[in-house]
Amino acid sequence: MPSSRNQVIVDLRAVSHNYNAMESKVKAGVKLLAMVKGDAYGHGMVEVARALYASGCRYFGVAEIGEGVKLRQASLRGKIFVMVGTSSDNYSHYFTHGLTPVIYGPEGLELLAKEAQRIGQKIGVHLKVDTGMCRLGCKPGEAKDLYLKIHEHPQLYPAGIMSHLPCSDEYESAQTHESLEIFIQTVKGAQDGHGIISHIANSGGVLNFPRTQIDMVRPGISLYGYYPDGGAGRIREKRAQLLPAMTYRSEVLQIKNVAIGTGVSYGHTYVTKRQTRLAVIPVGYEDGYPRNLSNCGEVLIGGQRAKIRGRVCMNLCMVDITDIGNVEVGDEVVLMGTQGSQTITADDIAALSGTISYEVLCMIGNNNERSYIQ
Ligand SMILES: *Cc1c(COP(=O)(O)O)cnc(C)c1O
Repeated sequence: MPSSRNQVIVDLRAVSHNYNAMESKVKAGVKLLAMVKGDAYGHGMVEVARALYASGCRYFGVAEIGEGVKLRQASLRGKIFVMVGTSSDNYSHYFTHGLTPVIYGPEGLELLAKEAQRIGQKIGVHLKVDTGMCRLGCKPGEAKDLYLKIHEHPQLYPAGIMSHLPCSDEYESAQTHESLEIFIQTVKGAQDGHGIISHIANSGGVLNFPRTQIDMVRPGISLYGYYPDGGAGRIREKRAQLLPAMTYRSEVLQIKNVAIGTGVSYGHTYVTKRQTRLAVIPVGYEDGYPRNLSNCGEVLIGGQRAKIRGRVCMNLCMVDITDIGNVEVGDEVVLMGTQGSQTITADDIAALSGTISYEVLCMIGNNNERSYIQ
């Protein structure tokens, strides 16, 4: 297969750096579970997990069971938590691939117990409690019952209690303190003195609310070089210094000089205000590059910023290079990353297109060829 002009480059050294930076923010004795769901937020789950393992990480989090199986097939060791779980016919994989199930209701518990009995293997489960996210998890009031139910099945044993924070990306948030209080009380109420672990902190918890670091923390976005509070997070003082790991680049496909008054792209939403030099770039929304960047995004060419003119198409977009000298067909275009002294981050793209870095990374990373810097 000929390779695409559009390349995502993932710097695994940056991922390792970010892992170490987050480790240094975590209190002694607290485990760090790396969230690698969403194909590691677009960075490539297997490659990222291997790099993290080499950096000392022994706990990984995925959404679906198939992702966990894929990691095992790539010979990844360590614990792999399946956060979202799956339908009943897949429960055997927890045993055959040594994955850690997260349980949030009696149905899942029964199905898991049945499978454990059939296979004749013990398994430790983590119980997920909803402390304010209003997403997956049992109600705090149901946790004790569910916890006791785990004990009713000889093949199951409780290994942990977890929850998730809805507002920890906010630098100050009463909700986070409230969720933490509910969680601490729930753990106290459910636990019977055995040494199970509890965990609630995501990247925002680790960075903004150190009290949420209990026995384990589960950062995701920070490992990829981004702060949960977006561009503002990067400039806060005394933060872990995180390095964006993903670069997205392409090249100039065609150059055209057009007269003043020329409509550009679908709908002619941009009309040139002067004689203009445009570069056509083979990147569009099909590549995960947001269409909302139409008439407002920027790319880097020749170390300078070039504005997107007109609408972003499915496979193409046009940028203004009138003020950039000596651009030639085949020249490098950086859509996200650094060129010369200029940088465009996923936060910049997110701010212009009305979303968050998480989505930008997933969309660009998972819709382009990736290569790696080890
Ligand atoms: C995605 C996720 C995380 C990580 O969140 P970040 O904001 O990326 O750090 C942690 N825990 C659970 C359950 C998640 O789904």
